[in-house]
Formats: sequence, C-alpha cells, structure tokens
Amino acid sequence: MAKWENVNPLNVPGALFVDMTCIDCGTCYHLAKNIFKEQDDRSVVVEQPSSPREWVQAKEAMISCPTNSIGVKNAPVEFREARVQFPLLISGNVYYCGYTSRDSYGASSYFIQRADGNILIDSPRMSALLIEEIEKMGGIKTMILTHQDDVADHALYAETFGCERIIHQDDVNLSTQNVERKLDIKETLIFDHDIKIIPVPGHTKGHIAILYQDSYLFTGDHLFTAENPSRLTASRGVCWYSWTEQIKSTRKLLSENFEWVLPGHGGWGYFPFPTKNNLLEDLVREMERKV
Ligand code: SF4
Repeated sequence: MAKWENVNPLNVPGALFVDMTCIDCGTCYHLAKNIFKEQDDRSVVVEQPSSPREWVQAKEAMISCPTNSIGVKNAPVEFREARVQFPLLISGNVYYCGYTSRDSYGASSYFIQRADGNILIDSPRMSALLIEEIEKMGGIKTMILTHQDDVADHALYAETFGCERIIHQDDVNLSTQNVERKLDIKETLIFDHDIKIIPVPGHTKGHIAILYQDSYLFTGDHLFTAENPSRLTASRGVCWYSWTEQIKSTRKLLSENFEWVLPGHGGWGYFPFPTKNNLLEDLVREMERKV
C-alpha cells in the first residue's frame, strides 16, 4: 500500500495521493488524465477527484499501479463506493486487463473475447479477482507475448487457464523457455482468420505486433501513442536491438489496415484512416532523424 509518510509533496492537497515509490510507468496518467500527471519523473495528483466517475478512474489507476504507489487518506465515501471491474472494455470485444506488474515496468496487457477462443496479449500480474472475471468471460485459449519484456506472470496465467503461449523464438529467455510455441517467422503469419502476427524487430530482435480484425494493432514496445499533439512515437532510448530494423518494421505497418493502436505502455488511441498512415509516415521521418 502507498504510504502517507512517503507522500510526494507535489500532490495537490486532498485524500488521493501518490507516494515516492512511483516508477513513472505512465499507467495512472493514462487511465485518469485529469487526476494524475507526470512531474519531475514521477506521477502526482494534480486534481482531486470531484465526481463518482473520477473516483472510479482513480480506483482503476490505483489497482493498475505496478508499485502500489497510489493511496487514499481517510477514504471518502465516493472512493469506498466506487465499483471497478477489470478487464476494462476499450471497444468492441477488446479489453484492458489492468493489474500491471513491476516486472514489466507497468506494461499493459489486453484481452480479446472471441468465439474462436479468447486471447490474452501480454501478461498482467497475478490477481485472483482478474482471474475470476476472465473465467466468467470464457477463460484464455491463447496468450501471445509481444516480446520478452512484458511477460509478467505469464506462467501463472498459463497454468491457471491451460492456455497455449506464443512468443517469437528470438525473444525466448530463461523466463519464457517453457512457452509452448516459439515462432520462427520473418514474414507476417496469418494466425487465424481474424488474427495476424507481424514480426517487428527493433526494440528487441523477436518483437511481434498482433493485428486483430484489421482494426486493433497491439504494438508492445514497438511504438506508442502520444498526446498534444496526437501522434505515434517510438523510443530510441529503449531500443535494445536495432534502431534501423525498428524503422523498417514501422514502415512495414503502412501496408496494414488498423485504426486502433494498443501499446505496451501509455495510452491506446483511435486513428481512423487516413490519420493512421499520416502519423506512421511522420513517425518514420522522426525515427530517421534519430539514426
Ligand atoms: S501507475 Fe503507479 S508507478 Fe505508474 S506512474 Fe502511476 S503512480 Fe507511478
């Protein structure tokens, strides 16, 4: 639990606070934009929740925080009554799992509920409440891991649901050596009628992106969304394998159809055609400037 004794002095006064253990993963200031913001490489409360909806958002952020850095002092009734349930619907049958893990630096994981078998994209931290909800939604048939960094408690979820895990073989490490299926692909794989797996080497050698229904692109750490102005970004600083390859992989996405970008960190975004291609072209140019 967050500790009031360790509170960040930059929080605005009020019941909700962030303590100094924050690792600045970005989860809370995506989920509750009006309430949390980054200041001096940590998240702080910039506005106290003032409606039941905002207390729900604050509680969603609190549950999702990988380091338990968000707390409430003398919890007001609105907080106690706020009902939060993960997985959290994003659009259609695509959900955000919350419950991020410190092991994957607060990375997001996503759940797709589909008639042909539910899919978990990357793994949250272990949570009995989340497992209960996923069970009610039909369990997990397949877990696809975008890359080696965002795997969190994948083994525990696989054991619980008996699902098949998939990762690119170039991203297998000690933690994922027992994953059931290791892909050896350089070209896009039609995994099912509505799922493509696209190799996007760069951030890591075996990084893959997952495209669902030619609409939802799960990007792991290959690319992210950003606001003000709304755009796509990629991080040179956390490119562990090859920036040149990452640029090529980004260019490759120009020929794919998608409207949603659901990254491993930060917020997801909706970019209908032609915005998505314009933003991708801008991103490629920006990446080329950083070679
Ligand atoms: S979710 Fe937690 S660790 Fe991440 S930025 Fe917010 S307070 Fe910090």
